[in-house]
Amino acid sequence: MTGDPLGIALQAAFGADLILLSAADRAPYERDWRGRTAGRALAVALPRTVADVQALVRWCGAHAVAIVPQGGNTGLCGGSVPHPAAPHAQLILSLKRLTAVREVDVENDTLTVEAGTTLHAVQQLANAHQRLFPLSLASEGSCCIGGNLATNAGGVQVLRYGNARALALGLEVVLPDGSVWNGLRGLRKDNTGYDLKQVFIGAEGTLGIITAATLRLFPLPQQQQVAWVGLPSVAAALVLFHLLRARCGEQISSFELIGRLPLELALRHLPGTRDPLPDVHPWQVLVQVDQLSPDDLTGHLAALAGAAGFTQAVIAQTAAQSASLWALREHLSEAQRLEGPSLKHDISLPISRIPDFIEQAETALLRQHAGTRLVCFGHLGDGNLHFNLFPADPDGMATTATLDAEHAALTRWVHDLVAAHEGSFSAEHGIGQFKVAELARYRDPVELTLMRALKTAWDPRNLMNPGKLFALPEQ
Ligand SMILES: Cc1cc2nc3c(=O)[nH]c(=O)nc-3n(C[C@H](O)[C@H](O)[C@H](O)COP(=O)(O)OP(=O)(O)OC[C@H]3O[C@@H](n4cnc5c(N)ncnc54)[C@H](O)[C@@H]3O)c2cc1C
Repeated sequence: MTGDPLGIALQAAFGADLILLSAADRAPYERDWRGRTAGRALAVALPRTVADVQALVRWCGAHAVAIVPQGGNTGLCGGSVPHPAAPHAQLILSLKRLTAVREVDVENDTLTVEAGTTLHAVQQLANAHQRLFPLSLASEGSCCIGGNLATNAGGVQVLRYGNARALALGLEVVLPDGSVWNGLRGLRKDNTGYDLKQVFIGAEGTLGIITAATLRLFPLPQQQQVAWVGLPSVAAALVLFHLLRARCGEQISSFELIGRLPLELALRHLPGTRDPLPDVHPWQVLVQVDQLSPDDLTGHLAALAGAAGFTQAVIAQTAAQSASLWALREHLSEAQRLEGPSLKHDISLPISRIPDFIEQAETALLRQHAGTRLVCFGHLGDGNLHFNLFPADPDGMATTATLDAEHAALTRWVHDLVAAHEGSFSAEHGIGQFKVAELARYRDPVELTLMRALKTAWDPRNLMNPGKLFALPEQ
């Protein structure tokens, strides 16, 4: 048996099936998705039931061990792995084995699943009942519904259906004292005091462990059209967005902006991909519209081409063509990874400010840091941009972590500009351990005081995911 005495005691209490102790077994859980950080865990717990989760939380409380909840470990802010400087021993509590389907209520358009169910499995389950669960992310094969809720995930259909926060009707949560809050209600109207589920959603595991959720389902779109449009500018993309929305309203489920450079990275690194349009365009948008025929979408785009200033667009004629347009969009992150480390910013802005922001940022960046390559893409319809910088001279830096440290001032500059445009430094990826200083810098002091008061009241010993959202106490 390996591990320190506390780990050995934990394994003795719960058994080797539930508790992984060896360094080799722990390693994949201890490192974050992008390889930016890793933290030593006392052990990894793999509970099978909510009762197991409760017993583990109580054991940790009794032994002053902190808990790091983990779903698919695809989070991009280091929230799901132990903080390297946390004062307590930390147990990674993986929800992966909690995958039961508790209820499918087709008439109520809801389903209730346990937290370790992957997003893809939730989508499939809804589909099997001729319903749509619209949350959709490139990581959906690995991320889990508990993690999606804990991070209030966004993705590519927020424009029509909202983010994870809008898709949950009820939650079940194991609290820091080991008790269970059963809030698994499938109600669309319930004005009975504070809406507690919304406090846990987006809390990144700092207030409790989500063990199950009741989720909203929607009718499956009978038709769904996908178009790819080449545009001269971001301003033109915004004109197209507003004009198309005036015609199609809420039927637009995605309106994704893609700069030339991210598209080129995808074409360079991903075998079998090709530019959907014959000519080179500085910007492109991928538009998805529900409940519309291909002819109707063709008609709308033809009518709007002059006003939005575009000359080339392609409308997918088959499901395979839609899938290949989406594949280009979905694989932008992977293409960047293959290109090398970059400084990533997940920002949101009032949609009206986006053209000015991009122009201002690009001009200043290129003036101050000649050669910087700007990879800009994102969910334009949600005001959410992924604004990533590949420095001209990365000084031979091999990892994203070193790049982040060396170029912290550049990130600060980008976030200050976002704040000046009344935007947010974290649109959908959360805070984790990487953006703790940003939260303290940009959030209103009164808001921060309220958040800390909540944390202290619900988790007075700071055993739930310490060092995430808030800085660790000075030692
Ligand atoms: C290729 C790729 C594409 C992505 N695209 C998007 C995107 O479009 N939109 C988007 O929003 N995100 C995106 N992400 C980020 C990530 O997939 C999401 O944040 C996802 O919701 C995380 O789910 P997870 O199960 O992997 O959570 P984890 O990474 O395991 O955990 C994330 C946070 O939630 C906490 N947590 C996990 N499970 C629970 C639980 N049951 N109870 C309480 N706390 C918990 C963890 O402690 C941690 O703080 C992407 C990531 C990748 C790798």
